[in-house]
Amino acid sequence: MNVLLVLAHPERRSFNGAMFDTALDTLGAAGHNVVTSDLYRMGFDPVSSRRNFTSVKDADYLKLQIEEMHASEVNGFAVEVDTEIAKIESADLMIWQFPLWWFGLPAILKGWVDRVFAMGRTYGNGHIYDTGKFTGKKALLSLTTGGPEAAYLADGFNGDLNAILRPIQRGVLKFTGFSVLAPQVVYGPVRANDAQRATWLESWALRLESIDSESSIDVGRY
Ligand SMILES: Cc1cc2nc3c(=O)[nH]c(=O)nc-3n(C[C@H](O)[C@H](O)[C@H](O)COP(=O)(O)OP(=O)(O)OC[C@H]3O[C@@H](n4cnc5c(N)ncnc54)[C@H](O)[C@@H]3O)c2cc1C
Repeated sequence: MNVLLVLAHPERRSFNGAMFDTALDTLGAAGHNVVTSDLYRMGFDPVSSRRNFTSVKDADYLKLQIEEMHASEVNGFAVEVDTEIAKIESADLMIWQFPLWWFGLPAILKGWVDRVFAMGRTYGNGHIYDTGKFTGKKALLSLTTGGPEAAYLADGFNGDLNAILRPIQRGVLKFTGFSVLAPQVVYGPVRANDAQRATWLESWALRLESIDSESSIDVGRY
């Protein structure tokens, strides 16, 4: 498979960094072709603006989706956006590695989505959900939390993690056609000891060794 690994963590030596390295090493050793987007080290600009484009449809009023449709037609995306879209288009499997921040994606990753998942090239013109542009591709969220697992059960004090992830798994991934694999969640790595963290890294590697035969999950509706 062609695999795109995206990392969103400001500290390269973080546990998220270790999860990313585990995926890079394991998938590479299994013979997959892995490309990466390490967003902080790339200095990826997460702010959507006219800088997304080299083309201009309406210089007077900025309507991002109109400019995105136009850029899709005239090959008018800025190179940093175009490069990331091309990585997704080439991937059979996309994995996002991130810490849960405020029940959501770190801003740098949310901004990557805002800029890169552009109308026209990645969705629209009838291409959504089952007819999505990325039909046939798989996506997987690999995340860490601060809170313990019990806090993320339906009756836990934070509530059901599946519901927290639904805006991402349904609103971004399913919407654009991806088949979504079960999320890989490490609860509270900060509170664990090195032995427990090593076990989590090993089970992530073990899962990845046979990831190409995994079936997708139902991400649910609202
Ligand atoms: C803005 C913000 C918002 C947040 N919102 C939420 C929220 O909504 N819900 C929630 O639950 N939490 C929240 N948190 C907490 C956050 O999710 C956790 O702190 C984060 O997930 C922990 O992962 P990390 O990679 O940053 O851990 P780190 O602190 O980087 O790592 C944990 C430990 O693992 C060690 N480690 C690194 N590499 C290895 C290795 N190879 N082997 C063994 N150990 C290793 C590190 O040295 C460290 O001791 C928030 C945090 C911030 C900053």
